[in-house]
Amino acid sequence: MNQLLIEKIDAILPQTQCKKCGFAGCRPYAEAIVEGGADINQCPPGGQQGIQKIAELLGIPTKPLNTMHGFPGSLQVVAWIDENLCIGCTFCIQSCPVDAIIGAAKQMHTVIADECTGCDLCVTPCPMDCISMIPVDKKAADLANSSVDAVKKQAADKARLRYQFRQQRIAHERQADHKARTQELIQPPQAQTSSEVRKQAIISAALKRAAAIRARTENKPDFIKNK
Ligand code: SF4
Ligand code: SF4
Ligand code: SF4
Repeated sequence: MNQLLIEKIDAILPQTQCKKCGFAGCRPYAEAIVEGGADINQCPPGGQQGIQKIAELLGIPTKPLNTMHGFPGSLQVVAWIDENLCIGCTFCIQSCPVDAIIGAAKQMHTVIADECTGCDLCVTPCPMDCISMIPVDKKAADLANSSVDAVKKQAADKARLRYQFRQQRIAHERQADHKARTQELIQPPQAQTSSEVRKQAIISAALKRAAAIRARTENKPDFIKNK
């Protein structure tokens, strides 16, 4: 595969990581374009400008956005969680492609607005319907104060890094999980439960000692028992 071309297409894509193109993220979509498995007009967040740039890069005619994949979204939205309703199920964390949600099981969750790409992938999985996409003042101000392209590029570079980091983390966790399962399968049963066996032996010995002391005490004359 032409890695350089993939890099160049990926650099044009907005890194929202929303999967609206039909692929698992921007990079997989870029790979599919290079492999001939996807058209250049499947990315709604990139809009017509993105299609134009990819067409120029590939030296092919531009085409309109395929709205089967959605419509261009605004850069000025982020997810917001109503923490009063959140039950801490973690479904949103699992669906966020850039790790922009923090929280733990059975505890309220919150979105790091600066890291959120506005992909809205966390909205549907929430069983409490407590995630909304809202406009963000800071991004609106950034857009007003600098060129849209510069802000988009900065946000895209950050999102790409966070997406890559998440992919690596998931791969690492899967590897560790696989290793642990393999270990369980190859270990003999006594090695698996050695700490439990030791614990049981200690408890059993303590019980025996207590029983022996009780028996000795019960056999002693009353004047010794009362000492
Ligand atoms: S922004 Fe969304 S639709 Fe566009 S390439 Fe990335 S994942 Fe696909
Ligand atoms: S918090 Fe929600 S909208 Fe924001 S990046 Fe994560 S999944 Fe997407
Ligand atoms: S999916 Fe909804 S209820 Fe579950 S942790 Fe996220 S915000 Fe809370």
